[in-house]
Amino acid sequence: MSDIISQYRISTAPYYRPVADEVELFQAAYSVRMPMMLKGPTGCGKTRFVEYMAYTLGKPLITVACNEDMTASDLVGRFLLDAQGTRWQDGPLAIAARYGALCYLDEVVEARQDTTVVIHPLTDNRRVLPLEKKGELIKAHSDFQLVISYNPGYQSLMKDLKQSTKQRFGALDFNYPAHEVETEIIAHETRVTVEVASKLVSIAERARNLKGHGLDEGISTRMLIYAGSLIVAGVDAKNACRVALVRPITDDPDMRDALDAAVMTFF
Ligand code: ADP
Repeated sequence: MSDIISQYRISTAPYYRPVADEVELFQAAYSVRMPMMLKGPTGCGKTRFVEYMAYTLGKPLITVACNEDMTASDLVGRFLLDAQGTRWQDGPLAIAARYGALCYLDEVVEARQDTTVVIHPLTDNRRVLPLEKKGELIKAHSDFQLVISYNPGYQSLMKDLKQSTKQRFGALDFNYPAHEVETEIIAHETRVTVEVASKLVSIAERARNLKGHGLDEGISTRMLIYAGSLIVAGVDAKNACRVALVRPITDDPDMRDALDAAVMTFF
């Protein structure tokens, strides 16, 4: 296999704690090369899940963090000028389609709509990617699969995926895991005790109840892992929670007080 693609192979098994039947469903979706959409709030395990699935399926994984400045060329490729003249450079989507990788477009809704339509011909039975500037039509490798993530909380009327895009994907719902499962994940990832991990999860649960009542987004599993890591590094638990859980998500003084109070309840 080409050197280009071998760098995208995942060599060690990522730790992923299945929450429901998402692993089996994804395997079935991959067996028919169904494009998949992972829906859920930020920091709840979507990226880790894709890494785990790519490793389990034995396929390389190319991840692209989408943003509003992204153009179709950033995905597909472009001509570059160098000393020898111009040469074509495949973008991440073209590499994945050509060599047979999973391509994960993280927060695809951030990209402009004209960018998202480049994925359309890859997500129906044509499975092709036209490189219009180069005059080439890539027929996707049989191992290729497209996966996107989508945070339903962020969407507004101005920014959403078109129905014509959405309907090209199967979807799996992700959310913060149940208390015991999330505790297990935090303890595994940070090496805090199960008791401390469970307290961190309890604080997050309080904050998640405030979503829509002054908080845009709850405290994520990722943030709990930051807090746990600080505790393991010797930071006092209350300070660790302030730095990793409370300060990042709100600037509102009342909301900070409410969250600080939740921290004091448990530590
Ligand atoms: P997302 O892609 O949804 O924003 P991530 O996959 O980056 O979130 O998750 C953040 C962190 O939470 C991961 O790095 C991982 O440590 C942890 N995590 C969340 N859910 C799980 C899970 N089910 N199994 C293992 N780790 C998890």
